[in-house]
This record gives sequence, C-alpha cells and structure tokens, in this order.
Amino acid sequence: MPTKFVFVTGGVSSSLGKGLTAAALGRLLKCRGLRVTMCKLDPYINVDPGTMNPFEHGEVFVTDDGGETDLDLGHYERFIDESLHRDSNTTTGSIYSSVIAKERRGDYLGKTVQVIPHVTDEIKERIARLATDDVDVVIVEVGGTVGDIEIVPFIEAIRQFRRDAGRENVCYVHLTLVPYLAPSGEQKTKPTQHSVTELRSRGIQPDVIVCRSDQPISDSLKRKISLLCDVPTEAVVSAVDADDTIYEIPLVLHAEGMDGYVCRLLNLDESHAEIDLSAWEAFVERVVGATDEVRVGVIGKYVNLPDAYLSVVEALRHAGFFHGARVEIEWVQAEEVLGMLAEGRLRDLDAIVIPGGFGERGVEGKIAAATYAREHAIPCLGLCLGLQVMVIEFARNLAGMARAHSREFDPSTPEAVIDIMDDQADVVDLGGTMRLGAYVARLLPGSQVAEAYGEEVVSERHRHRFEVNLRFRRRLEEAGLVCSGTSPDGRLVEFIELPGHPFWVGTQAHPEFKSRPDRPHPLFRELVGAAVQRAEGRAPRLLDMAAGARDEDA
Ligand code: GLN
Repeated sequence: MPTKFVFVTGGVSSSLGKGLTAAALGRLLKCRGLRVTMCKLDPYINVDPGTMNPFEHGEVFVTDDGGETDLDLGHYERFIDESLHRDSNTTTGSIYSSVIAKERRGDYLGKTVQVIPHVTDEIKERIARLATDDVDVVIVEVGGTVGDIEIVPFIEAIRQFRRDAGRENVCYVHLTLVPYLAPSGEQKTKPTQHSVTELRSRGIQPDVIVCRSDQPISDSLKRKISLLCDVPTEAVVSAVDADDTIYEIPLVLHAEGMDGYVCRLLNLDESHAEIDLSAWEAFVERVVGATDEVRVGVIGKYVNLPDAYLSVVEALRHAGFFHGARVEIEWVQAEEVLGMLAEGRLRDLDAIVIPGGFGERGVEGKIAAATYAREHAIPCLGLCLGLQVMVIEFARNLAGMARAHSREFDPSTPEAVIDIMDDQADVVDLGGTMRLGAYVARLLPGSQVAEAYGEEVVSERHRHRFEVNLRFRRRLEEAGLVCSGTSPDGRLVEFIELPGHPFWVGTQAHPEFKSRPDRPHPLFRELVGAAVQRAEGRAPRLLDMAAGARDEDA
C-alpha cells in the first residue's frame, strides 16, 4: 500500500487547537491499526525553536535524537504514542538553510534559485522522507493560519504534493472557527467561508472541514457549510470544546465520523474498517471520574505563559489520572517565593515541582522552595535546573558550603557545585556545549528512583549545559545526598534523592517529555502518589483542627 498523507491547515485564527486535532486524528487512525507518524511545518525563520524565548513560543520539546522542536510534537507523541525525531519538525529557516547550502555547493548547476521550485521541492522532499516502510499514514500539520504570507510556500508545496503522490493518497483537512455571536444568538459560518476561499485561492479544495466552536454545530449549519464550501455534509466535523480533558478529543472526532470519512477518502476503509477505541474510552472514563484533588506548586519563571511548561503540566495530569486524582496546578512565580514563604503561602501545597530553566532570574526563589520542601517533608521533584537548585540548596544548608552556586549564575563562586564539565563539550552549534537528546543512566539498586522505574538502566532526554560538579560529589554524599543515578561511566550525576524524605528527587533530564496519558512517567507517578498521601494526611488534620475550634466555641 502506498503511504497516505493527511495535511492539516488552519484558518480564521491561531490557537484553535490544530495540533491537538491532528494528534487526535492520529490516535484514531492508530486505533484502526494503521502505523502513523506526524510532522509539523513551522513558518518562522528560526532554524529550530531552540533559540526562542519560551515567552514567545512556549516550551521547546526535545526528541530522543536531540531535536529541539515545536511543542505540538509533544501533543503528537502523547496522542499517537510514538517517539518522533528532529525531522518531524521543519521550519522555514531550516528549509532555507538547506537550500542556501545546496546553492553554495553548486548543486543547482547554475540555475536561478527560486521559491518555486527549489524551496517547494525542499519542503516536499522533507515530507516525502517521512514515508518510511514502517509508516502507513503521515499527518502533516501546517503551522500558522491560511492567509499569512509566511506560509504560502508550504501551502504551495502541499498543493503540489497531491499531484506527486496521487490524488487517492492525499487528503486535506482544514480547521476553522465557528464563533457564536451573542447579540444575534447565532453561530456564524462567514469566517469559515472566507478561510476556505483563501485556501482555494492557493489551489487547495479542503476534503474535510473541522469546525471549532463552543457549542455543537447543528445539522442545518453543517448543510450550509457543505453547500458554501463544496464538501459533503459528512465532511463537516463539529469539534466542540472538550469539557474535561484534551484526551476526549479523539472520541469527539470519532463520534462525528471523521476518522471513518478520512479512511474512505484514502481508500483505507476496507482494510481498516474496524476501530478499537475501548482502551481509550476506558482511559477517558477514568480521567473524567477522578475525584481526589491534589495541589501541586510549579515554581517557575514563565508562569504567566503556562505553555512554557506544557509537558510538565501534562505529565502531572497523567500521574493524576493514574491515581484517580485531579491535579490542581498552583503557578508560583519563582521571584515571589521568599515573600510567599514569609506569609506561609506554600504550606498548603501537596507537592512542588521545580522545572527546567535558563538564566538567573528567580533562582534564589527556586532554591528556597527546595529547602522548604525538604524541611517540611513536601514531595518535591526537580527537573534539570530543578535538580541543580536542589543540589545547591543541599550544599549550602547541609554540606557546609555557604557560597555554593552554579557557575551559570555566579561565575566566580569558589563552590561551583554545578559547573560545565569539560569532557562533554561534544555538541556543536549555538547550543555549543548543550547536552541534547536521549542519554542512558545507570540507577543505584534499591534507591527510590530505581524502585520507581523498576529498572536499573533508563534513558531520558536532556537539554542543558551544566552538570553536578564531580569535585564536590563526595562532600555532598557524605552530608547525606544520594546520587541515585549516573551516566554509565559514572562521571555525570543524573538523579539525586534524599533518604528519609517522602519524595525529594531531582533529575538532570527532562522526564516530562516521555510521559504518556495512559502510562505516566514513573517519577511523576511517584511524586503525585506522595502528594495524594500528603493530601489524605492533611484532610483529617484539618478536620481535627475544625473539631478543636468547635470545642473551643462550645
Ligand atoms: N540552565 C541549566 C543548564 O544549562 C538548566 C537547563 C534546563 O533546565 N533545561 O544546565
């Protein structure tokens, strides 16, 4: 069977959930037994999002092979449960840098190098490359909104792609917004019509129109969109906002018949007529039915833009699903921690996460949060920079190194417990010394971390420059810190923990990238497990206090 391609474009507005819709469709196709991969085309000129401020673009998602990619790839991995790679994200910048490199090498044999055909060919080649022998369907999301000047070359490339790959092997899905206008009490189709017109002006007639709205789209409205946009009514999909969880979206799309319709278009309906959604349905039922509630404080720098910590939030939710608990995230601005501690405002947290980050701002607040968690037996998980601040706090307060710091924040500190290790300067590019992608670690048998993983050799994704400084490891260990995982050669500390604490664990990696909705990451699972226990312990205590107060009243 030739590989099939589904292209997903968006109209009207950004942030309609194009990535989630594409990912949810991917899940449905997988549930039909198809082997799916996904890719995102991004219109910006950065070669990858690695150099972008998270305030601008949200989290940088890291793949096993060290790709620094768009956060939508995180949605893809979580929904289709496949590990993607750096080639799963292509930006205008990366396309142009290859085209220009080819031009400099003389590959174009003296031709004038142009957007059509050279840039569009490069785009098509990147898409075609994803159709390996073990893939049945490639879903390609085009970032940006139809009508943006930046995405014209991508739209042109995917238009041409249908000719190259054969009509029956390509399908275009267009996502639009159907707003509800309160004064007229109606849902409006005009934005959809306009964006379909815009797409058509570039030569693409959508096969499926997915309408995002807060209320379901009625049949009569579907007929109207069908008539005006020239698609059958069954190709108009009402994608109403999911109430409880994004993981309901596959069920919403399936109820609208979207996956069946796409399969019919691509001639997959006979070979893949059956769909087994039972496991996913059971999972969603568990998610929706969760009753306990735990409050997890995330001590961050970009708390006004929660997308900067998207995978951390999802990993916490996944862990909550496992324990039947709703995870309530308390965003704590790192710079405000000291003031909040003085006012006792972190007392009610059931757990604390100190996520990754770069730059000095807020670091003292993160260090103080790590100390507070340690001293008050609050379950605490440090991710990358989080591990580093835990080590700094431990060194300062328990290992007698009052000036302990990371060389990143205090280049002249005599006690650089976190430093650049010169033997790992093996990566090039702006990242320079960044350790990127999957690295294996060996865990200490019997440690909390090894127990959590249930394995002694694990692989996690990395994105950082600094490491625990080996010169101080003995002193830290003598003071009671346990290095519960290291690189196989023992030179890089990958995990730390504190015996006797319910859960005070740091990892130099970013385990959040590997958490799956129905398979939470072991460290997040244990963190939230400990949080649930703490919350349960707290409830009776609060009741006792209330009872005490009543006694006093009497
Ligand atoms: N800034 C730290 C380093 O470069 C941590 C990076 C991170 O948390 N991703 O090592």
